Amino acid sequence: MKIDYNYITDRFIKYCEMDTRSYPDNDAVPTSPGQVELLMELKAELSRLGLKEVSYSAKDAYLVGKIPATTKKKVSAIGFVAHVDTADYNSKNIKVKVHPNYAGNDLVLDSNHILSPKEFPSLKEVIGHTIFTASGDTLLGADDKAGIAGLLAMAKYLLQHPEIEHGDLWLAFGPDEEIGKGAKRFDVSRFPVEFAYTLDNGNVGDIAYETFNAAEAKIEITGTVVHPGEAYGLMVNAGLIANEFVAALPHDFVPEKSKDYDGFYLLTSFKGNVDHAEVNLIIRSFDTPDFLARKQFIQDQVDKLNAKYGNQRLSLTMKDQYKSPGDLIKQHPYVVNLVHHAYAKLNIKPKHIPFRGGTDGDFISEKGIPTPNLFNGGANFHGPYEYASLENMAKLAEVLVEISYLHSELDDKRDNTPLRR
Ligand SMILES: [Zn+2]
Repeated sequence: MKIDYNYITDRFIKYCEMDTRSYPDNDAVPTSPGQVELLMELKAELSRLGLKEVSYSAKDAYLVGKIPATTKKKVSAIGFVAHVDTADYNSKNIKVKVHPNYAGNDLVLDSNHILSPKEFPSLKEVIGHTIFTASGDTLLGADDKAGIAGLLAMAKYLLQHPEIEHGDLWLAFGPDEEIGKGAKRFDVSRFPVEFAYTLDNGNVGDIAYETFNAAEAKIEITGTVVHPGEAYGLMVNAGLIANEFVAALPHDFVPEKSKDYDGFYLLTSFKGNVDHAEVNLIIRSFDTPDFLARKQFIQDQVDKLNAKYGNQRLSLTMKDQYKSPGDLIKQHPYVVNLVHHAYAKLNIKPKHIPFRGGTDGDFISEKGIPTPNLFNGGANFHGPYEYASLENMAKLAEVLVEISYLHSELDDKRDNTPLRR
């Protein structure tokens, strides 16, 4: 399979150098005009490549387009999703540096920033590759412009090779992933697929079909203020009740003691006086039953302290933030097994990643489209040491071609082997 490296290079650099940072406090859709510029650029590109039904909706700021089926068989449609925004790090005047035939040495980005394999050992896996970096105090934007470039390279390849059989393939490019807003708004009636993939992890071979389930809780506590000299039997100190609540949280269920498939409570703020106190925390757990139990525990503690101090002094507001797609995807193991088959054909070793955050796939899965997360060929996301490998972006394009073709072969004889971690 001959993926066009020059095409990936041109597209990737062009898109990285556009400022598409998203802003959590902006209510506009999308949250920055740079994202619209990139989406318009991509819209023109999809039409140039020959995709059909290319459309942008200002309501959700999603751009979609279709690579029409080449097979006569009845095959369900697959979707591929990449996001155009970048994380909350300087994104002004990004200048991409190209380091061809990387030899494993330190890469000087500017006088203050050196990307070294001593500090970032993953660089040893891309020796011999062409590496892209930023040039100092900006991020690169490989998250997720590497996914965009790989996806476009796949589209270009398939449209130039109509002899490769596949069903309908829908591409979607959306905004505001980094702030968890974009995919929530995505009107998937414009994305008629059975299942989809986001391209938003780093390493070749990554598959994430489970993420955290996430909720946030706020506990407000009302005290009774009395002159301390006359407080006997009367004063109720809200600050001390808050302290009692916090002390009852499990001491080993915290981020600093949590990895892989562990969850946590994170106390994000804790303030108060006699009159009023407020505790904020977030709850994270991979497994739905555990997640529900962890939320119930918070409710139980609040109830217990209310019973003890009376007058409903504690009030709890708990909100779900995002949901792991794991439960849904485990009911549709073919969606992940298909990737395993594609990886096997390309000699890629699959690695199931517990994704310790949320992805666009969480929200798209909640809308009924099982959506695991694959890789994009970048690394060190969200900061100045971000880099991407040209060869690994091309590898993504190959994987997507392979998934598309294999689905036309396997759709009527699906591998539904249950998923394991
Ligand atoms: Zn991303």
